[in-house]
Amino acid sequence: MELVNFAYIIASILFIFGIKMLGSATTARRGNRLSALGMLIAVVVTLFDRNVLSMGWIVAGVVVGSTIGLIAAKRVQMTGMPELVALFNGFGGLASVFVGWAEFDRISRIGWEKYLGNGPADSTFILVAIFLAILIGGITFTGSLVAYLKLSGKMGGSPTLFPGQKLLNALILLAVIGLGVVLVVNGQSQELVVSFLVIIIALCCLLGILGVLPIGGGDMPVVIAFLNSCSGLAASAAGFVILNNVLIVAGCLVGASGLILTMIMCKAMNRTLGNVFFGGFGAASGGKAQKVEGEMKAASTEDAYYVLEAAQSVIFVPGYGMAVAQAQHAVKELAAILEDNGAEVKFAIHPVAGRMPGHMNVLLAEADVPYEQLAEMDDVNPTIANVDVVMVIGANDVVNPAAAEDQSSPIYGMPIINVHQAKTVYCLKRGQGAGFSGLVNTLFFRPNTRMLYGDAKETINALVSEFKG
Ligand code: NDP
Repeated sequence: MELVNFAYIIASILFIFGIKMLGSATTARRGNRLSALGMLIAVVVTLFDRNVLSMGWIVAGVVVGSTIGLIAAKRVQMTGMPELVALFNGFGGLASVFVGWAEFDRISRIGWEKYLGNGPADSTFILVAIFLAILIGGITFTGSLVAYLKLSGKMGGSPTLFPGQKLLNALILLAVIGLGVVLVVNGQSQELVVSFLVIIIALCCLLGILGVLPIGGGDMPVVIAFLNSCSGLAASAAGFVILNNVLIVAGCLVGASGLILTMIMCKAMNRTLGNVFFGGFGAASGGKAQKVEGEMKAASTEDAYYVLEAAQSVIFVPGYGMAVAQAQHAVKELAAILEDNGAEVKFAIHPVAGRMPGHMNVLLAEADVPYEQLAEMDDVNPTIANVDVVMVIGANDVVNPAAAEDQSSPIYGMPIINVHQAKTVYCLKRGQGAGFSGLVNTLFFRPNTRMLYGDAKETINALVSEFKG
């Protein structure tokens, strides 16, 4: 047993250092491998420690799970990552539900007296842990499925609101808590059959669906980070259920880091967690376009070339469209040409640009954009009025001035990169499409903005060709 716990401590240390190394693009890959090694140690040691299942079942599970995981990870486009992460979170939650359910069933079969006689656990403690694994795991499972459907466009991104929704959610939550109390108090009696647990599971799953339905488009980054945190907490509760130390530690690490990320995302969008869950983002406008004065003026790559050629300072603002176009390598090439031409070049990154936290950092790191050229929104905004040219590469919501100026806008108050203050702004996009939130972007109608229509990669390549003559 000492040896097993020692191995678990090593695994936990590897997790902690792995997560720490994810903080920088240069060490992230090694950090990922370190955490994976920790997980391998934890899994192997657990398999040799407890003969809970036959090895045949375990090997079959590993083969099926690994095959599905490998195919999903190989097939997924970079832009589909958030959907995949949402599904992973959801299945993590479901796994915790199964652990709680299976353990309750197992203990009910062998009898609580015999079970308690064998181990260090107390029945109230185990029943609370089972309840938490089921509650958090169930909500995470169905909540993540709804988030997946919304992100992948299989379900409308705008919030689904109906009268009495908050009251209904509150009543279901109260019912679940009430049933949880009954479970903890009477769980040891033989009268509480497993089907009672199934009712609780069903209500938790319903709560997950009803909880995420009213959350709309723009708030999805916060929801994904929060569900990620929940999947960790559910795993940690499952760890208490089966008294497995490494599961408790790993679950807590995911729970805590997910919660920190949730707070960072909330801050980046200037919203509180309560407001995200109960605010019904975008419901007022229904995601419909508002009326805007002015017109969108198109420019040619040739026009843009002359302006860029004379520019002393250029800022690139990447967004989701850069990921769709896979334009990061072309953008890096253009940035290098501009630097050689004497311009000061920076990349300004908004915390919620793209479709997952750190999306733009990953893409730019993949293209080997020097780390020193990356700048945070807060560092860029104070001096942006002096910048000659801003190139908005498939970004939309994160540069929408309505967030700063229009109090009736659903994104009012969300910090943006103030590109509209720069001397000239070029926006690269394919057409008149709206951003993720579905709102009209007043930036496109400004007198200092020019639209460069077309796929971002093709437009950037055309600009590179202009420079190369
Ligand atoms: P947006 O989703 O607001 O806008 C993307 C833009 O890219 C669109 O205007 C689209 O216009 C354009 N585009 C798409 N494909 C191409 C292409 N091939 N070439 C050129 N342009 C293209 O992106 P932002 O990054 O500005 O904002 C992110 C949004 O996503 C925010 O609302 C954020 O809240 C949300 N979100 C963020 C998450 C995160 O964790 N970062 C997670 C979930 C949601 P067109 O169709 O006309 O080409």
